[in-house]
Amino acid sequence: MKRNDLIDALAKGLGSASVLTGERLELRQTRDWSDAGAAQPLALLLPRTTGEVAEALRICSEHGCSVAVQGGLTGLAGGANPLDGEVALSLSRLDRIEEVDAVAGIAVVQAGVTLERLQQACAEHGWTFPLDLGARGSCQVGGNAATNAGGNRVLRYGMMRNLILGLEVVLADGTVLTMLDRVIKNNAGFDLKQLFIGSEGSLGVITRLSLMLAPEPAQRCTVLCGMQSFDDALELLRSSKSSLQGLSAFEVMWASYFDASMEAQGKTSPLAARYPVYTLVESVAGAGMAANESMEAFLEQAIESGLVADAVVAQTGTQQDDLWAIREGVSELLAVAKPCAAFDVSVAITRMDELVHRLEDQLKREFPGQKHLFFGHLGDGNLHLISGPYPDPKHLERAEELVYGCVGLFQGSISAEHGIGVVKRDFLHHSRAQAEIDLMRRLKVMLDPQGTLNPGRVFPLSAGVA
Ligand code: FAD
Repeated sequence: MKRNDLIDALAKGLGSASVLTGERLELRQTRDWSDAGAAQPLALLLPRTTGEVAEALRICSEHGCSVAVQGGLTGLAGGANPLDGEVALSLSRLDRIEEVDAVAGIAVVQAGVTLERLQQACAEHGWTFPLDLGARGSCQVGGNAATNAGGNRVLRYGMMRNLILGLEVVLADGTVLTMLDRVIKNNAGFDLKQLFIGSEGSLGVITRLSLMLAPEPAQRCTVLCGMQSFDDALELLRSSKSSLQGLSAFEVMWASYFDASMEAQGKTSPLAARYPVYTLVESVAGAGMAANESMEAFLEQAIESGLVADAVVAQTGTQQDDLWAIREGVSELLAVAKPCAAFDVSVAITRMDELVHRLEDQLKREFPGQKHLFFGHLGDGNLHLISGPYPDPKHLERAEELVYGCVGLFQGSISAEHGIGVVKRDFLHHSRAQAEIDLMRRLKVMLDPQGTLNPGRVFPLSAGVA
């Protein structure tokens, strides 16, 4: 491949304003939030239409150049980071909300729309797009689909996959698949969109999406509870599932995370005492329904029975945001603990506490000087751990081996939400059988025989296979 020929062909195909090189490139962010390595891309491509994405991929394929697909670059798995000799293709200019159908509750959007902008646009029409995560201001819906993002409300609305009606995807050779269904029911042959959801940009580039909306809840009730044990938290989850019809989030924070988050944000705890475990519970309700009253009655009973040691109920929207900020203090903590490992695993909820204690013991024994902060989405068995700082990469690798090996023993998943990218690539065998990995490779080769799209992400390169 001759670099100059490639850049000339791209500039001719997309227009030079959409092909950044040199100084114009240096001003741009081209790596995600992980600590995975990243090279300076040969060029940053900023197509404006699906046709331009297709043209860019066709040209790159013809010139034998690999492409790092980039959304909002909030990923934590390094999948969007360019490797040596790659071109970066950003979806950020495909940022049009094409339609919000307020009757059917469907939105059709381009992939580069940020999650927060979509949420705001839907709210203007009395609907909500219920996927929600801390990176909402920067992450893009295309990236959310490519990673099958989860977040705070999976318990009620499911993961991104459950909210997608249809996709438009461009394959590595420039073929455009327009599968923008507007109905849930479509059993006409294979449901091909599912292949691309969660495939982390390695099978195709998502350019447009049709999405299912939910009615905007008229009321939201948020409560922070101090718990004496994880078993109490589990029992509270069980009883809230049966008592709170609108249960929408059930988050857990162990004391180490809670304290560090308060400290990083310069805040004091809204609860009078310190507890080993905290839960953040949220329920939603429609107009005329008594969300607050039913939550307060439920809490009263939980406190009387000793299940909840203490609780604070948010009385205003600002107080709700303040409570959520404790759980969402991840970005501040990631910054403090860098270079760190941000784990995102899942395990049967009944074994979560056992896993936390096992990991905490082992990590503290080997790395007593580091912080090990545990928290997660208890409602769906998703455990997060921020562990660091690890200035020595060998120590970071050892911590990863330790955590993923243990998760494998617990028959959990090494990636609940964030994806594999390059960061977890070498640990995939802890969660997937060899036959599954082989099938993934065969699909990759079938859809992208030259290995143009995100090669070496999800699984390592191997002889004859991208
Ligand atoms: P990027 O980081 O740009 O890319 C992620 C991957 O998707 C890469 O492999 C990339 O190649 C691919 N990709 C991106 N766009 C496309 C596209 N249009 N077509 C094909 N492939 C594409 N994640 C959760 O699931 N739940 C959380 O609660 C959560 N909380 C977070 C909180 C913080 C503070 C941060 C920094 C991150 C969090 N994340 C969370 C991780 C991240 O926000 C999600 O993975 C998000 O979906 C990534 O979207 P993005 O647009 O930033 O994608």
